[in-house]
Amino acid sequence: MTRLLLLTLFAVSLTAQEIALTFDDLPNHGNLPPGVTRVDVARTFVAALKPASVEFYGFMNAGRADGDAARNEVLRIWRDGGFPLASHSYSHMDLHGNNTEDFKRDIDQNEAALPQLMEGQNWKWFRYPYLREGDTVEKRREIRAYLKQKGYRTAQVTIDFGDYMWNAPYARCMANEDQQAVEELKSLYLEAAEDSLDAGQELSRLLFDRDMKHTMLLHIGAFTGLMLPDLLELLDDLDFKVIPLAEAHSDTAYDSDPDVATTRGETLLMQMALAKKLSYARHPDDAYEDQLDKFCR
Ligand SMILES: [Zn+2]
Repeated sequence: MTRLLLLTLFAVSLTAQEIALTFDDLPNHGNLPPGVTRVDVARTFVAALKPASVEFYGFMNAGRADGDAARNEVLRIWRDGGFPLASHSYSHMDLHGNNTEDFKRDIDQNEAALPQLMEGQNWKWFRYPYLREGDTVEKRREIRAYLKQKGYRTAQVTIDFGDYMWNAPYARCMANEDQQAVEELKSLYLEAAEDSLDAGQELSRLLFDRDMKHTMLLHIGAFTGLMLPDLLELLDDLDFKVIPLAEAHSDTAYDSDPDVATTRGETLLMQMALAKKLSYARHPDDAYEDQLDKFCR
């Protein structure tokens, strides 16, 4: 092996990958195991994330908190933990099943609660529900322009392994007191997370010929709460440095707009692959869905 090659390998191994973690569907997401409340879940998240000392955005649907004391407490716990909130639309509206006027109204309606919760800090990030940016390019362009005009930045996703799919089997297995099945769910979750990181890196290299700064989609569900310490450890083992959302989005890879209709809800990288007619790895929803559905029936 030449000395130059050795030096190159050494340099590569020193370059950490970078990734932002984002959390959708505050204040409530997914099935709960018996005896676990939304407030418990929120506390688990804050306890697991705090040691990382990074700004983690939670994407909120105010419509799911309106008039509900426990759900409002979830938002308070998130804010008291030092983490910011931003918009995921008021009612978690699906842009594909609704018209642009209703969608704009839903964006607007979510703005009533955010300024007060955020006390002058930046809440003008928008995460599209289901990652559905428009089933036609006309809808996509209209909503993009609307968000831009209102001063929002789209919080894109480049890594998604469908973490939400683990909540229902977890709740069933806990109800059955089947701890061994829960252990299997845990290893499957970490396997899926690692797969998605590989797929994201592969697409980034294919599209940009380099490792971009990634953004991972997660949800405030009971199972991801349980898994966060292990997930953070996995990222560390794989040399991923966890960074704030704004830092990830400072990567120029986020500036390009693939300008395609989304079909099921695709990550930014999948949208770019669609635009360039490149094949991409399986949709995350398909990879583990059947397997998870069989747990603890
Ligand atoms: Zn969502």
